This record gives sequence, C-alpha cells and structure tokens, in this order.
Amino acid sequence: MSEPSDDGGVRHRPLPSVGIPLLRDEVRASRVRRVVAGSLVGVALVAILLAVFVVPELVGEEEPAEEPDDTLASAETAPLSLLDAAAASAPPEVVEEPLADGAGTRTVRPFGSAIGFRPALVEAGCTGAEADALIAALTEVMDFRRCRPSHELIFERDVEGTLTRFEYRASSTQVYEAHRNADGDFEGSRVEVPIDRIRIARGGTIRASLGAALERAGLGRTLVGVFVETFERQINFNTQTRAGDTFRIIVEEERVAGELLRYGTVYAIEVRGQRFGEHRAYWYEARPQHGDFHDETGRAFHGGWLRTPLRYDHISSPFDPRRLHPILRRVVPHNGVDYAAGTGTPVWAAADGTVTFVGARGANGNLVSVQHENGYETHYAHLSRFAAGLERGQTVTQRQVIGYVGSTGRSTGPHLHFGLARHGRFVDPQVELNGPGRMLAANHLARFRRIARTLRAELDAIEVGPAPDDAAEEPEPPAAPTEPTD
Ligand SMILES: [Zn+2]
Repeated sequence: MSEPSDDGGVRHRPLPSVGIPLLRDEVRASRVRRVVAGSLVGVALVAILLAVFVVPELVGEEEPAEEPDDTLASAETAPLSLLDAAAASAPPEVVEEPLADGAGTRTVRPFGSAIGFRPALVEAGCTGAEADALIAALTEVMDFRRCRPSHELIFERDVEGTLTRFEYRASSTQVYEAHRNADGDFEGSRVEVPIDRIRIARGGTIRASLGAALERAGLGRTLVGVFVETFERQINFNTQTRAGDTFRIIVEEERVAGELLRYGTVYAIEVRGQRFGEHRAYWYEARPQHGDFHDETGRAFHGGWLRTPLRYDHISSPFDPRRLHPILRRVVPHNGVDYAAGTGTPVWAAADGTVTFVGARGANGNLVSVQHENGYETHYAHLSRFAAGLERGQTVTQRQVIGYVGSTGRSTGPHLHFGLARHGRFVDPQVELNGPGRMLAANHLARFRRIARTLRAELDAIEVGPAPDDAAEEPEPPAAPTEPTD
C-alpha cells in the first residue's frame, strides 16, 4: 500500500542503527568518504575560493559525500531517455475554448501545485458547492491521493457559467469524468479509452547503429532493448554491428486517438550481421502473460530468469567484488549491477517469487527484495516508488512490475541497483543468470512451430531497404563499432 512520493525518500538519511544488508560496504565507504571530504574541506578552508571548486569536483563523480542533492546529481548524470523527456516537458498551460456546439466554454488546466483535489478545484474557479458535488460524484471511481501536478482538469460550462461536465485526465488512457444528469446531480465514471492495437512489420539496414536504423524505419529507439536483451548471449551489439547489417521486427503498436502510447507484444525479431550471422526470435506464451522469445527449435533464449529486470540505457557499474574505489584507493565490493535508466522506468521481478521486503532501507533508498526458488533472493534498490499495492509476503510472477527506477538513498542519478544473493551470498547476476533457456514442453511444440513458421514467412517478406553504399542521398559514415543506443 505504501507509495512514497518521488522525493519523499530522497532526503531521508539512514539512521546509523538501521540494518543495511545490501550496500553495507558502500555505506561504510561513504562514511569514510565523508571523513575524507570533511578533512578536504578543512584543508580547503585555507583557500576558501579553491574549496568551492575543488571539493565538489573531487566527489562529483561519486556518491555525494555530504547531504545528497539529488536534483543536481540527477541532472548531471541522468541519461536522457524518452521517459525523462516526457517528464521534463513543461506542464500544460490553461487553455480556454468554446464548446463544439458553441453553447459554453471548455477550460483545460493542469492540476499544478495544489495540495489536494478540492483545493485544485477551488483554485480552478469552482465554487465550494461545485467542488463538493464533483468530489461526491468521483469519490467511488478515482483515488484523489494519486493526483499529480501534470494531470489535467477539464471544465465545461454553459453560457450562464454553470458547470455541466468535468473531466480528470491522469494520462491519455486514465480518464475520469463527471457530468450533470437530468436531475442536476453529478454522476462520475471512469472513461473507457479505446486502445488501438496495430500490428506492424518493419525492417531496415544499419548504417551507424541499430537505434538509428529503427528510427529511420519509423520505430522507437526503445525497441533496441528488445534486440539487445534477447540476443545478449549471441551478439554484442556494441562491438559486432557493421554498416549493412539488417534487422526485421513484427511488433504491436498501442495507439490512443492516433498517438503512439507504447509498444505491445513484439512477435518476432531478426538480425543479420556480417560478424554475428542470422538470428531470429519468436514470441510464444506457454502460459497467459508468461511469454518468452524462442529460437526456431522452441528453446527459450533465456533461462527461468530475466537477467536484466528493466529496459536500461547502459550498465553504469558492474558487479565487482574487488572494485577499486576511485577516491578511497582501496577495494570496496559492489554487490550488484547498476543499470542507468530514466526515472519511472518500470522494474520487473526477475523471476517468480515472494516479496520479502518493500520500503525505505537506508542507503538502498526504496528497496524491494524477492525470495525465489533454490535459495536465491533478488534486491532492487533506489526505486522512485513501488508498484501500487505491493506488500511483503505477496507472490509475484516474472516480469511483473514491482517498482520504478529512481534515485532514492545514496545514489548520484536515476539507476537500478540489482543485487542477487544465493543462500545469502552475493553473486554476479550477469554470470549467474546467463544459462541457456529451456525447451518448450512437448505439448507446446507443434503449436509453437506452426506459429514460428507463419512469423518466419512474415519476416522474410519485410523489405530492409538498400545497403548503405547504394543510399547515396543520405550518406552516413559507416562508423563501427557502434553503440546500440546512441
Ligand atoms: Zn549499485
């Protein structure tokens, strides 16, 4: 039930007595660092001007030695992702326009900085009676505690100025409305927003990077992650991509009123490379909601684990039991893998399991821990918030969203610290979870092969466009090796 606000946990400093199993060493390092930084400040006091510049520079690349200033830190280190761009866009202005039938006005305004739903209504010009009527009408259908500054309030008033209809838009798909009925009372409901699912098949030739090629094909760069994750055991896209390599993809777009909301199921992907050959993957759900990519024979690309429990931008720090600390100049283990990703990026359970911890935990910030089969436990730290309703003792399934990337606790910018322990000992998730996947059960194979055959024919029919040599009109240097997400 706990869903701390995005900044709620950030300024919280861990009490020294709080047990911090996950990042104990980092915390100790940080304490030492504080002392180091403290003495640096002392020295620097001799030359005050120097201190202002030297101290932040020394600690700038690392975790903040003093009170963490997350806004500063994240602005500096946060990789700009699609999510960030959306979150950073300015809140909508107040827009007033005549109603379609000309008999009144329609006003759209952001929820803004109001401290609650009622104050927001009153600030927007509602009378106390109107506000009370709207609250009464909507109290059963929407949760007023989930209001956010970027949400939109839409008021429709007739020519006399009487409120006839109200709409609350939390997102393009989460919309609530209240309208005046014949008796003059307000009736509230959640608006069913139709989502169009459009299956598209695209392909392209890589000139500089897979991301750029996806974009040229009219697709989002976020799909790079699907290729990288699926083929991570076969292909290193960073070093093995060459100009002229090709990709094909069959994916579902989810659109609301024509606007792309997100990508749905990716049915099939293919890459052909000069260095890595041909690889194809087909999505198959052996159980509802439990799909995975399989090769032509029906073997899953991954084991029972998601090696990466999110779509990330890059690994900002690998698991390293002998990490030489850049400032302390001594070995400080890093008991997990840090994945840099935009604030709000969903984090999935890496495998089926039972939640053993949900909450703020010292340097880990907002932490979720999940117990799995065979003595494994996974830890997801620095979350901005938790999945709604997530509780200790709850069972979760693989790829279920358990929280969202953030920068809570001791963190310099939005990232997920993903830790894996086996019988209480930390191990490298990138190594430990890298086994080959299982074959589909015999009773699924015939159906899978039929589906895969159809998808293969669809893939083969996708045009990939001319090789870069022929594409004279838009020359791009064949830079290789390339970044998958450049
Ligand atoms: Zn970490």
